[in-house]
Amino acid sequence: MTAITNHLPTAELQALDAAHHMHPFTHGDGLNKKGARIITRARGVTLTDSDGNEILDAMAGLWCVNIGYGREELAEVAARQMRELPYYNTFFQTSHVPAIALANRLAELAPGDLNHVFYAGSGSEANDTNIRMVRTYWAEKGQPERTIIIARKNGYHGSSMGSASLGGMAGMHAQGGMPIPDIHHIDQPHWYAEGGDMDPDAFGLARARQLEEKIEELGAHRVGAFIAEPVQGAGGVIIPPDSYWPEIQRICDKYGILLIADEVICGFGRTGNWFGSQTMGIRPDIMTIAKGLSSGYAPIGGSIVSDAVAEVMNGCEFNHGYTYSGHPVACAVALENLRILDEEGIVTRVAEETVPYMKEKWESLAAHPMVGEARIVGLMGSLALTPDKGARAKFASEPGTVGYICRERCFANNLVMRHVGDRMIISPPLVISKKEIDTLIERAWRSLDEAERQVRDEGLMKAAA
Ligand SMILES: *Cc1c(COP(=O)(O)O)cnc(C)c1O
Repeated sequence: MTAITNHLPTAELQALDAAHHMHPFTHGDGLNKKGARIITRARGVTLTDSDGNEILDAMAGLWCVNIGYGREELAEVAARQMRELPYYNTFFQTSHVPAIALANRLAELAPGDLNHVFYAGSGSEANDTNIRMVRTYWAEKGQPERTIIIARKNGYHGSSMGSASLGGMAGMHAQGGMPIPDIHHIDQPHWYAEGGDMDPDAFGLARARQLEEKIEELGAHRVGAFIAEPVQGAGGVIIPPDSYWPEIQRICDKYGILLIADEVICGFGRTGNWFGSQTMGIRPDIMTIAKGLSSGYAPIGGSIVSDAVAEVMNGCEFNHGYTYSGHPVACAVALENLRILDEEGIVTRVAEETVPYMKEKWESLAAHPMVGEARIVGLMGSLALTPDKGARAKFASEPGTVGYICRERCFANNLVMRHVGDRMIISPPLVISKKEIDTLIERAWRSLDEAERQVRDEGLMKAAA
C-alpha cells in the first residue's frame, strides 16, 4: 500500500511541490521561491500543518467543508461504497443506488418544483451543463435563437471555458479566449464599492434594471437565461441590497427567461437556510450545486432543475454527460453529508444560534480603524478595508496590496481568512463553536492591527484620488 503520510521534512516537501506541482490561481515562481504551506491533517475547524501549527480555517477549505473536517462517518460510507460498487456509469440505460438515493434526497430538500438532478463532478462542470441545457431547452421548445445567457461582472461560476465565460472576472477572461459567444454581463449589485451617493435600495434597483435594459438591447427573443449567485462569494462576499433580487425575479418572470441560481457556495446551510435562494426569496428554474453538497469530502456537483425544464429536456436525447456524473462513491458521501447536516440540526442550529452570535461579533470589527464595512449573511462575511472610513475610500495602491498584507498577517496568526482585492472574507465550517468564533475574532483583530501598522509604515494609508 502507498502510504501518503508526512514522512518528509517541510523543506523537502516544499522543494518537491515546487519541482512538480503546478498550483491553481497561483503565481508559480513566487510561490516556489517562498514554499507552500503544507497541510497534513484537520479536525473540526482546525488545520494542522507540517510544522505542527494549528490553524483556524475560517474559509472551510474553499467554502466547502460545511460539516467540518474529520467526520469518520463519511470515510466509512466511502470505504463501504468502494467495496460494494466503486464505479458504474449512468449513460447506458443503467442506474445505481447512490445516484438514485441522492437525487431523491435533493428533490426533497430543494424548494418549489426543483425535482430533477443532472450530476457533474464539480461546480464548473455543472455550469457548463447549464449552458448547454438552457440552449437545448429553448431549441426543443422551438426557439433556437434564445442562446444568450446574461451574467454579472465579478460573478464567479467556475474555471472551465463555459463556466469562466459566465463568470465576470476580467483577469480570467484575459487568458484563453473568453467569453465564449452569446454570454453577456451586467454590473454587480456592489453598493459599498460602486454605489456612490445612491442609497443602497435605489442602487440595488438600478443594478437589477440593467438586466431589463440588457434584455431590451439584445432582443428579448434572443435571451435564454440569467445566472447569478444569490450572494457573490469569490467576488468578495457581496450581499446585494434588499431591493435587488425581487426586481431580478420580476424581470425574469416578465420576459420568461430561465433564472439560474448558482448555489455552489450558498447551498447547504451557508446562508442560514438550505439554499441561498430561500434566504434571498427567489424562485430559480435551475440551481447549480457543488462544494457543500459533499462538504468537500468527495468531488461532486450538479444541476437541480424544475419540473418544466425536466419535461422539455426529457423529450430529447441530451448529448452530454461526464464519466463521473453521479459517481457512486461521491453520491454516497454526499448523501451521508446531507444526513449529518439534517439530523444534527446543523442547518437550523446555524440559523438560530451560530449566525446571531457570529453576526454580532463580526460586525464589531467595523469599529476597527481600517475597516469601512463589516457585513455577514449566514456564515459568509466580508470586511472592506479602507484608508478613510467616512468616504468609503479605496486605497491609492494597486488593489489587493493591503488585502494581501492583511491576509499574510492572518496566516502568521494561524487564521485562514482570504482577501479579494482589499476585502477580507470568511466562510467557516458551519459547525464552528462560539469559543472558536471568539478565537476567530480575536485573531482577526490582531491581524488587522498588525496589518494597519505595516500599511502605515509602508506609507500605504492613502486614499485613491
Ligand atoms: C467554486 C464555485 C464554482 C465552481 O466550482 P468548482 O467545483 O470549483 O468547479 C461555481 N460557482 C460558484 C458560485 C463557486 O463558488
